[in-house]
Amino acid sequence: MLVMMQRNATPMEIQAVCDAIQVLGFNPLPMPGALRTAIGVAGDDGQVDTSHFEGMAGVAQVLYDSKPYKQVSREWQPEKSLVSIGHGVVFGGTEVPVVAGPCSVEGEEEIVHIAKLVKAAGAVALRGGAYKPRTSPFAFKGLGLEALEILVEARTVTGLPIVTELLDVEHADVVREHADVLQIGARNMQNYALLEVAGELGRPVLLKRGLSSSLDELLQAADYILKGGADVILCERGIRTFETATRFTLDLGAVPWLKLHTHLPVIVDPSHAAGDRRLVEPLSKAAAAVGADGIIVEVHEDPTVALCDGAQSLFASGFAEYAQRVAAHAELDGKRLA
Ligand code: PEP
Ligand code: MN
Repeated sequence: MLVMMQRNATPMEIQAVCDAIQVLGFNPLPMPGALRTAIGVAGDDGQVDTSHFEGMAGVAQVLYDSKPYKQVSREWQPEKSLVSIGHGVVFGGTEVPVVAGPCSVEGEEEIVHIAKLVKAAGAVALRGGAYKPRTSPFAFKGLGLEALEILVEARTVTGLPIVTELLDVEHADVVREHADVLQIGARNMQNYALLEVAGELGRPVLLKRGLSSSLDELLQAADYILKGGADVILCERGIRTFETATRFTLDLGAVPWLKLHTHLPVIVDPSHAAGDRRLVEPLSKAAAAVGADGIIVEVHEDPTVALCDGAQSLFASGFAEYAQRVAAHAELDGKRLA
């Protein structure tokens, strides 16, 4: 970290900053320049609170010389992480696993049926919400524990590992017991208490990017989980921009950017970004071509009667063809669908 002093900073002000750095346990390195003095903070690991210095007399600006995120970074670990979710499914390698299923679990027969169907079409994991974060308190919030039990039944029948959302700290144990992957939803990306708990449950975590979160913030959120020891899969699912034609703006540039800066696998959710099933296939193809390490997509037997996110859910009957066409695009990036 570097503290840039104002051009007219006095020697006393410079000394006061040096003293403050020392009080924090770091070494101040004043570097007088032709116009101003810069003071280096040696030995900091990026955890110094910049607000400490920003308000001091004579200080112009505080600059980081290292990234705010740590364990997730390529600096920390140059080689890519492979995240295994069990049942032979691995994210981050040369295959592109597809996770498919309805937005929320609506009933046992329906979910077992859809699980068989998506498996036959090439999906390697089943998604389905038991606890749903809904914008309106009057909307369907999921079947809770009953849904988790139904998901386990679907796994028993098909062998597909289960991806489901951990919405709240109070459900941590019960979701961990039933699920293979704990999803942290976009709305909870900055629920730091939940991230800390999720990191300690001994299950891989699928961390979705917040609706209005920068990639730096996403990576720091992932650091919370890694700190607890869990593996993390990052998920780009669209962000808020000035554009309202699509539900969210799918930030495809995030995929190669993240892969440069983090060793974690990066997957894409085209469904929530699109909000419209007609856009889901082109966005999936683009995601595969741009290097996504996986795709998580909503599929329903009859989306017209889905209790949640029907408009963006693919019809199960067309899913096999969809998967084949997306597979061709994964090959453009030298990968293949798992
Ligand atoms: C979901 O996966 O159903 C979901 C609610 O996703 P997000 O948190 O990305 O909105
Ligand atoms: Mn959904």
